[in-house]
Amino acid sequence: MFSENRTEYLKMIASAERMEIDVVVVMKLDRLARDLADAATAIKFLKSNRCTLLAGDDVNNADTAEGEFMRSILLAQNQFHARRVASDVIKTDCNIAKQGKTVGGVAPYGLKTVDRHYYIDESEAPAIRLMFQGIADGKSYQSVIKELTESGYRTRNGEMFSYSSLNALLRNEKYCGTYIYNREGGKKKKDRVLLEHVDEVRIDEHIEPIIDKALFDRVQSILDKRKNECRPHMDASNYLLTGKLFCKECGGPMSGVSSTASGRGKRKYRNYCCPKHHKRYGGTCLTKNINADYLESAVKFILTESVNGYLQDTSAAEQILSCLNAPLHKERAELSRRVFDLDGQIDKFLSRAASTPNAILTQRYEDKASEYAKTQEKLKEKIAEIDSQIAATKAMTSDMVGGKPFTVEELFASDEDARLLIDLFVERIEIDETGDEIQIIFRQ
Ligand SMILES: [Zn+2]
Repeated sequence: MFSENRTEYLKMIASAERMEIDVVVVMKLDRLARDLADAATAIKFLKSNRCTLLAGDDVNNADTAEGEFMRSILLAQNQFHARRVASDVIKTDCNIAKQGKTVGGVAPYGLKTVDRHYYIDESEAPAIRLMFQGIADGKSYQSVIKELTESGYRTRNGEMFSYSSLNALLRNEKYCGTYIYNREGGKKKKDRVLLEHVDEVRIDEHIEPIIDKALFDRVQSILDKRKNECRPHMDASNYLLTGKLFCKECGGPMSGVSSTASGRGKRKYRNYCCPKHHKRYGGTCLTKNINADYLESAVKFILTESVNGYLQDTSAAEQILSCLNAPLHKERAELSRRVFDLDGQIDKFLSRAASTPNAILTQRYEDKASEYAKTQEKLKEKIAEIDSQIAATKAMTSDMVGGKPFTVEELFASDEDARLLIDLFVERIEIDETGDEIQIIFRQ
């Protein structure tokens, strides 16, 4: 049993791995993890270590395909709830940021916060100047790091600067005076917290600059150039539909291939192709390459529509509800039966008490009857508790079903989410030779 404490959680995971645990009990699934990916990983992990998961709000038939599907919806629901709460927090923070004030957290290296505003921290700022100047002078990351270390500069954790810490610092516009919050394409967005209606906040010349804008821009273009030179095939693994996508024509699996257009722009194209279409593999299949961005966004759209459709469907609501409440109804029926049995026994004692002439026996029967009545009272309280649980589940389900439909961006906020949702819901995707017809076969 564990609750909010993540260290306990990690301990639990470790002992589950050693197969020391048979059963894990959580109040609600969202205690396991707020994040869809984490929850699914945890569930899979426990299952593979032969550990049974009991969650108060879990479906009671998670071993069946139908139960698994409903659990997916529940997990998704938890995640979207967390995301919406987080998005409210971000909105509030954005309003603070728009006034040019800092929004909690620690100032980046080289800066400090006083009274919700950034100021240069002269004990660290020289390291920032050294970094930018070094890169602008054409030095490598390695030699800049060496220089920093030799000059006695360390990160705030007392460690040497690393490639990634250096890169993050060199990209931070705060150093040339621009106050920026919730950066477009920044970390927050990757954290899947940001929704499309929350804009980035940017105020130029708001912070006293550590370096000037011209130097900052020069470093950015050097870094952009290096990035393109060093990592030509960075997105090679970045195909969401790999493993799910099949060619309808020949039945073969289609895989992602990226190509770079010739010419000065060197635009990159991502495609899915049927290997048999390629001459090298016989060229027996007519299915053409299909643009990956197009196909992925089409699949996301269709998937969003069907999840929303499922959630709008009231019969689905009843199905989920009956799944969730089945154990409660069972317990309630059992308790009711005991209450009924006690009724009979109380009656029996009372009539015995009335019919016996012996005063001592009368007292004893009456005592017995009131003792049983007390037990009965307790059972009735328990029934009332279950009734409120049933009502709560009902409210939660109606919240979830028939609520505001999800947008594609909400459902697929990150590649990681997208991969997971596709894995949860989709059995396979088939496309025909023209690429016009996309057929999604759902897991059932
Ligand atoms: Zn084919």
